[in-house]
Amino acid sequence: MTEQLTHFIDGARVPGTSGNFQDVFNPATGESHAQVPLASAAEVKAAIASAKAAFPAWAATAPAKRAAVMFKFRELLYAHQDEIAQLVSQEHGKTLDDAKGELGRGIEVVEFACGIPQLLKGEFSEAVATNVDTHSIRQSLGVVAGITPFNFPTMVPMWMFPVALACGNTFVLKPSERDPSSTIRLVELLHEAGLPKGVMNLVNGGKEAVDEILSNPDVKAVSFVGSTAVGEYIYTEGCKHGKRVQALCGAKNHMVVLPDADMDKAVDALMGAAYGSAGERCMAISVAVAVGEGTADTLIEKLTPKIQALKVAPYTDPEAEMGPVVTKESKEKIEGYIQSGVDQGAKLVVDGRGLKLQGYENGYFLGGTLFDNVTTDMDIYKDEIFGPVLGVVRADEYETALQMVNDHEYGNGTAIFTRDGDAARDFTTRVQAGMVGVNVPIPVPVAYHSFGGWKRSLFGDHDIHGMEGVRFYTKLKAVTTRWPSGMKEGALFHFKAGKDH
Ligand code: NAD
Repeated sequence: MTEQLTHFIDGARVPGTSGNFQDVFNPATGESHAQVPLASAAEVKAAIASAKAAFPAWAATAPAKRAAVMFKFRELLYAHQDEIAQLVSQEHGKTLDDAKGELGRGIEVVEFACGIPQLLKGEFSEAVATNVDTHSIRQSLGVVAGITPFNFPTMVPMWMFPVALACGNTFVLKPSERDPSSTIRLVELLHEAGLPKGVMNLVNGGKEAVDEILSNPDVKAVSFVGSTAVGEYIYTEGCKHGKRVQALCGAKNHMVVLPDADMDKAVDALMGAAYGSAGERCMAISVAVAVGEGTADTLIEKLTPKIQALKVAPYTDPEAEMGPVVTKESKEKIEGYIQSGVDQGAKLVVDGRGLKLQGYENGYFLGGTLFDNVTTDMDIYKDEIFGPVLGVVRADEYETALQMVNDHEYGNGTAIFTRDGDAARDFTTRVQAGMVGVNVPIPVPVAYHSFGGWKRSLFGDHDIHGMEGVRFYTKLKAVTTRWPSGMKEGALFHFKAGKDH
């Protein structure tokens, strides 16, 4: 029987009332196993009203008590990690190891939020003038919202709400409608951890739900992670309505391989970074810039047999290295890009199309795909494909490779593989991207640093999680205080002697 998923409003799961539902598919079988309700504006308003009502008490709760909920939440996430990973894999398609991996990265942010009493400590300057002191404090904003993508249904929401809640805000989350079950479970566990009702709400939905969030005056800030076209809309609309907005968007991450790099390590790194999670990661490497003819030839020669040997299988197969992509539309879009690469003159070295798995003929599977001789005018170079497709671009020299990364419209992550310290230092200094790896293919910062891209990979002024997250979810207040000193008149002495009372 098809399961009906729910929203989570005012401390409880609630069924959808809009009458609009969307199927949620298992990408390995192509079968729908659940229906997600798409919230109307009225349902989103109810979630925002619940968060607004819960705000004053939650904001006034001591940070250490808010942290206590996060400590408990962390324990529950570990206790339920197998169950949560199963929900992720069933709706996203990634392997169980990848699902547990993303949950682990989300838990790191919860651990960061456990330190909120320390993180919210203000600054104090004594005697800025005679008898005058100044201190600054960070205060919560009110109701804040998160809109998240399909590709990390647990990690990306946890980039946002643990920090936002720990800072004293209340939250309305709109997860991806393609794989919402694990996200709903996270919200349920937060309540088991002792979060008061109304502090965290979840509404499922599409554009109608998002538009209510963007225009509702009670929502003070919006965090978005998803594609650039949607992110730019959310940033523009949110700002137009006076909200603080951070929108983390699409990517085309280049890995520059210099001739002196350890080629075996570079190839292993490319295998994980290009084909892990079927390439559906905003930090996936989709372009390898091989500097020097010999470098490109070596990479292609070493990559080809490994890609051909990739074990593509459903997550239920313990040997699976790569699962299906998320939807039928996504599979067709990726196949379209592969064809355009061929039509525009790239050399197709490994073709992942046409893969059929016995017993899973309707699944959205694609094999790993490799192109050589990709050039910067091709669509497979310019666009984010978001699938298991890697293109090798040949560059004569380092400067050309660096210029290529810098000229691309996206600037999320990038990496250089080399043994040359000078080259690595020059690259990290001059490259136009928000996250840079030196012999590290996917340089996702740990939770106590912040995550964010440059150029059209991020709209807004703040990166996510780490101290940037604390800054995004709080307002700074500076308080200047004068107390006329009673010392001269002997007021302190009088008080001690009890004469004033
Ligand atoms: P998406 O943009 O389609 O969806 C993201 C969210 O926006 C979802 O909640 C969706 O319901 C909502 N949405 C979709 N269309 C909308 C519309 N027209 N109006 C209002 N809301 C709308 O993204 P996706 O396909 O779920 O995720 C993949 C994208 O996310 C890729 O581009 C990837 O690079 C990006 N991403 C970026 C980061 C990052 O940190 N930069 C991290 C993860 C994913």
